[in-house]
This record gives sequence, C-alpha cells and structure tokens, in this order.
Amino acid sequence: MTLPDSFHFTQSSLQDYLDCPRRFQLRYVLDQPWPAVESEPLIERERLADLGRRFHQMAQRHTVGLPVEQIAASAQDADLVRWWWNYLNVPPRDLPSAVRRAEVTLTAPLYLPPAQRGGPRGGHRLTAKYDLLALDPGRRAVIVDWKTERKRPTRAQLAARMQTSVYRYVLVEAGTALNGGHPIEPEQVTMVYWFAAFPAEPEVFPYDSAQHADDAAFLSGLVEEIAARTEAEWLKTDDTKRCHYCTYRSLCDRGTTAGIGDETDVELDLDIELEKVEEIAY
Ligand code: SF4
Repeated sequence: MTLPDSFHFTQSSLQDYLDCPRRFQLRYVLDQPWPAVESEPLIERERLADLGRRFHQMAQRHTVGLPVEQIAASAQDADLVRWWWNYLNVPPRDLPSAVRRAEVTLTAPLYLPPAQRGGPRGGHRLTAKYDLLALDPGRRAVIVDWKTERKRPTRAQLAARMQTSVYRYVLVEAGTALNGGHPIEPEQVTMVYWFAAFPAEPEVFPYDSAQHADDAAFLSGLVEEIAARTEAEWLKTDDTKRCHYCTYRSLCDRGTTAGIGDETDVELDLDIELEKVEEIAY
C-alpha cells in the first residue's frame, strides 16, 4: 500500500517520517489506530494538551478582536492564567500590524530541486497551519508560533524541526494573497517561536533565498523518497528511546511499557490535532 497522490504533507507528518519511517507508515499510510498509551502519566499529558489547545483558542479570539475580559473568563487553570498574562504583557515584539491572521492554512505544491525543476511533483502538496501571520504587505511577513511546552527547547532543536523549514517555505510559496497580491520574498520572512511559559525568550529565525532553495530541494527530495516506498514494512528507527513514547510500540515489538511523558511529543501531537482544519485555498 502506497501513499495516494492527493496526500497533503505537513510539518508533523514529515517530522514523523524523519523520526521513524515505520511510524509514518502506520499513522498515515495504514491509518493504524493507536493501540497503546503513549506515555505516562496519561492524565498529565492530556492536561497539557488541553491547556495548549485552549491557549491557542484564546490567542485566536484575541486576534479576531474579542474583548480581553470575555476571553479571560474562560481561563481558570493557574498555568493558563499565567500564560494569558504573559501573552498580554510580554508578547512577541515589533510585529507588523497591517495584516493579522490567526489559524490560517496555506498549501503549496512541491517542486523538484532547481536542477530538475519542471512543475508540481506528482500532485503532492505541502500544507502549513499558522497560529498567527503578521504582515506589512510588500515589506515584512512574520510567522508566530505559540508554544506551551514547560521546558523551552534550544535554538538548535527548533532549527532542526521540520516546522521551521516547512512554515517559512510554504509562506513564500503560497502567501501572495495575504501580501496584497505580491509574492513574498524569502528575505521578508521571519519566524518567531513564542513560549507561553518563557515569554521574554522568544526564538527568532530569519529567512533568505539560499535557505529557501535548500528547503525546496530537501522537502521535494524527502517527499519523493516517501512516495517511492513500496515495501510492506517501512524502516524502523534505530533510536529505540523514541519507541518508549510511541503508541505503536506493541506492534513493533519495542516494549509494552509507556515512557514518562516527553513534552516534545505532546507538542507534536498537539500540532497534529491543530492541523486538522478545513483548508483555506489561496
Ligand atoms: S514503536 Fe518505535 S519503531 Fe515502531 S513506529 Fe514507534 S518509533 Fe517507530
């Protein structure tokens, strides 16, 4: 069973593939239900995911102009109250103000690397759902991603995440309609990770044409590799530590005991859930 041409790749699915091809196959190709508790304690994991979800909703409501008091009335949990205070009082600085769009989804076709460029690749598309896009059309385009992890990732960890590549790449490829009808140049793009628990320590990633070309080559090559897989059982990761947090471990004969919760994993699952929205075409 192979991937349909109509499959929309996302940063989460590509991250899954890089972490473990077998996990991608089980989750996206075979649509395998999760057979095991992913990590313990489950209640705390669910609480973190729920708080993250609610924080994203509050930020979205704020962006569309709902009164602050009305939004805050729904926040009772101490963590959520603190995050909301941080959001209002220590927000990302110097954001463009002309256009603000929350929870917007963009989709771009994937192209071959420049040397082989000739058009969309096999119908495969790459979708990104943005927490917030802030633009001054023709000048700047800032991607803001809200993060609710309790432990702040390092810059190197964030740079290595597929999200950093995919979000900047897709905005350049598919953001024209948000930019007054003008193509967005890579040099106009910045991505900001803002941490609800560490609001004064955002991580900022600029972008440029060279990085965009590298991303185009890497992403299209990766998708080409995934689409070409035909074996019955895709490669399992050598990093067996990942298996402790993976719901499929009983299917892979990689143990039955759940690992103690890893927040990176919670964030990835939250990203997957938040990505499940109706696509808006541009
Ligand atoms: S249990 Fe391990 S090998 Fe199996 S899908 Fe999960 S990460 Fe991959």
